[in-house]
Amino acid sequence: MSASYICADCDHEFVPEEAGDDPRCPRCSRTEAVEPADDSALQSDIWRQWLVVFALLFIAGIAYVVFE
Ligand SMILES: [Zn+2]
Repeated sequence: MSASYICADCDHEFVPEEAGDDPRCPRCSRTEAVEPADDSALQSDIWRQWLVVFALLFIAGIAYVVFE
């Protein structure tokens, strides 16, 4: 599993060729704006799951009101 990073400055996602503590963005050559991409991907996955749960509850509520 290769760790991918995302640059917050130019929004460029990349996998650094050298696994170091301070990966550099290949597009804008910044190091301070580069963050691991795995965390944000995980958070968006959790957010998407909650969105599905709320959508199902919403549909169930409408079905209850309509068919009751
Ligand atoms: Zn960049």
